Amino acid sequence: MFNLSRYFSTVSFILIVLAAGVLGPLYQKLSLQQMQDLAEGRNLAMAQVFQNSLRDSLDTLMSDSVGQNPEFLMGSEEVRRLRAEVLGLMHNTAIVKIKIYNRLGNTVFTSDVGKAGDSSLGNPGFRSAITGAVSSNLTHRDSIDSFEGTQAEVDILASYIPIRGKDQSVEGVFELYQNVTPFVVQLNRNMWMVTGGVALVFAALYFMQFLVVRRAQGILEDQEGRISAACDTLEIQVEARTDELKRTNTQLEGEIAERRQAQSKLNYLAYHDPLTGLSNRRSFIERLEESLRESARRDERLAVLFIDLDQFKQVNDSLGHGVGDELLISVAARLSEHVRLIDMLARLGGDEFICLMEGVRGEDEVEILAREIVGAFELPFVLGDHELYLSASVGICLAPEDGNSVLDLMRNADTAMYRAKAAGRGNFHFYTPEMTRDAQERIRMENLLRRALDNGELSVHLQPQVETRSGRLVGAEALVRWNSPELGLVMPMRFIPLAEDSGLIVGLGNWVLRETCRQVMQWRKSGFELPQVSVNLSVKQLERPEFIDVLTRILEETGMDAPSLKLELTESVVMAVGQSFELLERLRDLGIRLSLDDFGTGYSSLSYLKMLPVQQLKIDKSFVDGIGKNSGDEAIIRTVMELARSLDFEVIAEGVETVEQSEFLQRLGCDQLQGHLHGKAMPAPEFRARWSIPS
Ligand code: C2E
Ligand code: MG
Ligand code: MG
Repeated sequence: MFNLSRYFSTVSFILIVLAAGVLGPLYQKLSLQQMQDLAEGRNLAMAQVFQNSLRDSLDTLMSDSVGQNPEFLMGSEEVRRLRAEVLGLMHNTAIVKIKIYNRLGNTVFTSDVGKAGDSSLGNPGFRSAITGAVSSNLTHRDSIDSFEGTQAEVDILASYIPIRGKDQSVEGVFELYQNVTPFVVQLNRNMWMVTGGVALVFAALYFMQFLVVRRAQGILEDQEGRISAACDTLEIQVEARTDELKRTNTQLEGEIAERRQAQSKLNYLAYHDPLTGLSNRRSFIERLEESLRESARRDERLAVLFIDLDQFKQVNDSLGHGVGDELLISVAARLSEHVRLIDMLARLGGDEFICLMEGVRGEDEVEILAREIVGAFELPFVLGDHELYLSASVGICLAPEDGNSVLDLMRNADTAMYRAKAAGRGNFHFYTPEMTRDAQERIRMENLLRRALDNGELSVHLQPQVETRSGRLVGAEALVRWNSPELGLVMPMRFIPLAEDSGLIVGLGNWVLRETCRQVMQWRKSGFELPQVSVNLSVKQLERPEFIDVLTRILEETGMDAPSLKLELTESVVMAVGQSFELLERLRDLGIRLSLDDFGTGYSSLSYLKMLPVQQLKIDKSFVDGIGKNSGDEAIIRTVMELARSLDFEVIAEGVETVEQSEFLQRLGCDQLQGHLHGKAMPAPEFRARWSIPS
């Protein structure tokens, strides 16, 4: 920091010294000048006195001296008298010596005992006086020969004063020596006193100012200390704040990164199916919207292919959701790997997948893709111990011809998929506008079916079941028929799925049950004995908690005995119903017999089968169809037969149409047969007419 005190003391000291150094000599010089003027004035007055008193002697001396020997002159009486007069005048004055020069500069008189006759022509004082001017000069610490003898160490002021004649002309020069030593001593003393005084005053001022400056310096230092402390604090605060900001920044960055991560995870979840990792419905819809715009702009076509797994529900129901999920993952992987032409593959949910093909040039291209999709299911899916054969149905529609909105295209592809499914497993179908009409028809049919029961449009047909060996009638399967005034005769394959989807199946199924029992009991009462009757049960009926109560009430009301009633359940129905064991056991305890319908198409495990309280296995028509044509189907039938034998199940084969099939089944030991070979499902009166006469 700037040291105010130090600078002040240095500068002030220099200034004081300078002031003292300048003022002292200046004062001395002025005083000397003043003293000189005073002394000169006194000399002048003295000279005037001398001149007046000695006028005559002087005049004589001046005129006589010219051309005279100075030695002689000094020894003359005239001069001796003059000296005595002069000395008398000089007595008690400060004048210590007088010299008189004539015009030529020769000393004609001196008050001391010195020689006369010296020339003063070279003396500047003389030369100026001879022209009429007075001049003086001061000599310090000199020694002088005065009339009192030689005086040493004195200050002498010598004045040269012109001597004027009567005509005022300069005739000679006085030189008066005045002893000014006391003045000079006094002067010096004064000078020292003044200098000392000045120095003292300055010193006092200096001291006072020094105190002020030192105080100011103190204040400044204090302020500086405070400022620097404040600066330090500020710096620390700034540092701390900077650190804090940095920390906050890092924290913020961390949070932002986390948020970004969470956001991208959310985005991922928003657009992906968590199970298979495929794009989800939303993602597909957005992509399709974009593709539609792009295709319209480029005047191109695109295809939407709706894929539905045919037997997924059975797998899920029979093997559980865990296996179902694994299967979906495998299906997604297989589709992604094996199908080359897909531009986008997504899972819509459940067992529904959808894919998009852009830049379609022709239907054949789409057909190749559809075949690839169907073909991807040829090999079984191996999941742990299970080897599952699956197929998929594919519905296709094209833009712009089949629709140019996401909604239309997805709906139409779905409709086409239903058609493919209806046409048989592992199929694909292109959308046609009639399909929409069919879908509308389904809605209409559902509405009609709602009224069918109340309107008495339903009836129960019966299909005979015969003993293989003898061909004897052992029972019948009750199969519902719908005779609609609007639609004509409608087969169950058309309306049972509809009834199941709409929930109408519960009322419908219970009606069939009651009607069948009623019919059998009515026959029995009138003498026609049908040993046993099978009624198909939907999972929706079984799921109802009041099912057993409803069933017992039907038995009571119709008078039907439980052992004459057989309930047909598919494997998937058995698996799907929670606590099915308990339920089936209660049915068995009632004395009702149970048959596993469509056997071989499901996925029941042997161990599970062993525990089921069923008495009969019903070999599905699809295997019977393969007899004589497909060794695989025959092998399955053989296996089923062995299984049934080892578990002591009764076996019935359905859909037997030919003698060959009948013989094949008989050879394997199949107990009963059902099929067109022995009789189609027919109305009750017809059935009675046909079977009341033993064949
Ligand atoms: P399902 O229980 O497997 O019935 C056998 C189906 O095969 C019947 O078709 C029957 O007419 C048909 N069938 C029998 N033998 C032959 C044959 O030799 N050749 C051919 N081509 N077909 C044969 P239907 O009556 O059309 O019934 C179809 C399905 O509808 C039934 O399959 C059953 O699952 C369901 N169903 C029928 N009536 C009812 C019912 O009252 N309740 C429930 N829940 N389902 C029913
Ligand atoms: Mg059946
Ligand atoms: Mg069946």
